[in-house]
Amino acid sequence: SKRGRIDRFLASRLQIPSRQAQQLIRQGEVLLNGAAVTQVNIIINEFTRIECQGQLLQALAPAYWMLHKPAGVVSATSDAEQQTVMSLLPEIAQTQQLHIAGRLDKYTTGLLLLTNDSRWSEAIAQPSASKRKHYRVTLQNPLTDDYVSAFRDGFYFEFENITTAPAELTIVSDYIADVVLTEGKYHQIKRMFGRFRNPVVALHRYQIGQIVLDDNLALGEARELRADEIASVV
Ligand code: URA
Repeated sequence: SKRGRIDRFLASRLQIPSRQAQQLIRQGEVLLNGAAVTQVNIIINEFTRIECQGQLLQALAPAYWMLHKPAGVVSATSDAEQQTVMSLLPEIAQTQQLHIAGRLDKYTTGLLLLTNDSRWSEAIAQPSASKRKHYRVTLQNPLTDDYVSAFRDGFYFEFENITTAPAELTIVSDYIADVVLTEGKYHQIKRMFGRFRNPVVALHRYQIGQIVLDDNLALGEARELRADEIASVV
């Protein structure tokens, strides 16, 4: 992933359309290792020194954040109408070209991970990686023991034509359950409880793999991941 076309690198690094990046290259505004190039598809690597209009473009340092997502903001990096999770992050994070590693619904709270390292986020999101995602669920109606086996056996979702992978449900109290999923289908938890006609009134994710939501983060607060947290995602 360190090798790639110069025009794509510029488009991504400068957040400009690729046509505009190609124009800069053709106009001789881009120097690779000190020499102007006009070929838009030249391959660069992490050792290439890239200058554009007299400015040295450093490769973007990898960045990893956790956010305690509040309800009511959308898991998107930009949105025309609604407030996004990105708007909650510190200014430095806004320049790091982050993407979300595992989105949450608008009214779900809890652990959201953001990074600019796509190999890392793929290791989290890939179905084959099956990272365990832990949720605390608050329900409208009381739970019964039937839920435990139903979640373990899986539910058939006609729309996607799939049966959900075995999920662990632990009853915490009459109206509260902890659920561990290894996948993330559309509105999965709400739809699973929907089979019992039991509406989810609050949903909170507190752990993904080995990464646990930091108790010190209030709703809407974020911090960078520690090295051990980053390394826990292989
Ligand atoms: N399941 C849901 O229904 N919503 C989420 O945000 C996550 C899991």
